[in-house]
Amino acid sequence: MARWPPVSSVRNPSLKLQGLTPYDPKYLPADSYMSANENPQDVSEELRRKIESAIRAVPLNRYPDPLATELREMIADANGLERDQVLIGNGGDELLFNTALAWGGVGRTFLNMPPTFSVYEANARLTDTDILSIPRIKERDFAIDEEAVLEAVSGPDSQVDFTIIASPNNPTGLRAPQGFLLELLDATDALVMVDEAYFEFSRETMRPYLDSHENLIILRTFSKAFSLAGVRLGYLLGSPDVIRQYLKVRQPYSVDAVSQAIGRVVFANRAGFEPGIDAIISERDRLFKELQGINGVKPYPSHANWVLFSVPEAEAVWQSLYDQGVLVRDLSGTPGLEGMLRVTVGLPEQNDSFLHALKAALEGVREDGR
Ligand SMILES: *Cc1c(COP(=O)(O)O)cnc(C)c1O
Repeated sequence: MARWPPVSSVRNPSLKLQGLTPYDPKYLPADSYMSANENPQDVSEELRRKIESAIRAVPLNRYPDPLATELREMIADANGLERDQVLIGNGGDELLFNTALAWGGVGRTFLNMPPTFSVYEANARLTDTDILSIPRIKERDFAIDEEAVLEAVSGPDSQVDFTIIASPNNPTGLRAPQGFLLELLDATDALVMVDEAYFEFSRETMRPYLDSHENLIILRTFSKAFSLAGVRLGYLLGSPDVIRQYLKVRQPYSVDAVSQAIGRVVFANRAGFEPGIDAIISERDRLFKELQGINGVKPYPSHANWVLFSVPEAEAVWQSLYDQGVLVRDLSGTPGLEGMLRVTVGLPEQNDSFLHALKAALEGVREDGR
């Protein structure tokens, strides 16, 4: 006879969790971490000392400033915006989730352009948002199907409430053409988020168009170019009305006081990151060319700090790279990315060992195939 109340076990979670798998970035110990698009260099010693003294001044017994006013003002100033056009988040990821909370939900539609950052679709599903997918065109280096997207958002019958376009697009690499983004912004009153997590590497931003397009919102992060993936800081640039909607859904204290202090120091010293960013860009272009020269490997052009490439037997190649101490991202299980791996640009010597390990891996795969 069944007992009531039950002795153990847990009631099922919400139905919508069925079929969802937890985000798994495959953090494994390795010699070279080239899988998560992080900056290969930590902050300089000099900057670390400044960070340490800023942290020392933080009262830990007090709640943080909910809106991170000081950092918000610094970012607004640097972008020629008002304070109420900026919002700081606990990483870009929090702001992406808030986007789904504020613009998605039952009876709402999110326009996605896969393959892209998987978090977008996961957030839509969690919030019971309908998803309209318009796949990117693989034969054209995963360019957006511009015609299909414009058609989907145009006209009074369009159901699309919001869309997110990563530019450059993770994990494929190309920027979205600005002309297309402007056409899209003009064609719809849906919220158009341009995810500029990697704009420091692509050197292109939609910032100049914020004044003319109220439905444009830009997402940025400290995690990539600014070496702060461990700290969790991202931000939005948008119109005051749009930012106000985010204020309704966000958790008041999501950005802790320590992160705010670190963010202020790093943002004030951001010019110091430029040489590192330049080096990443030139190493990216070198990696692309070297990959092009390897038999059986097809790299995709990238405006960011990684290169996506296809290889024969991608899973075996991933494993062999890993066995040689090099961790890259295996995307071969993602629809549209069969046979593909993504390597984050590292320091020159890391890129060299990656290329060396890849050649060895491919030789191993070919011998096994004989
Ligand atoms: C890394 C990344 C983000 C944000 O990352 P956070 O670490 O949460 O700031 C957002 N979008 C894309 C496409 C990314 O790759």
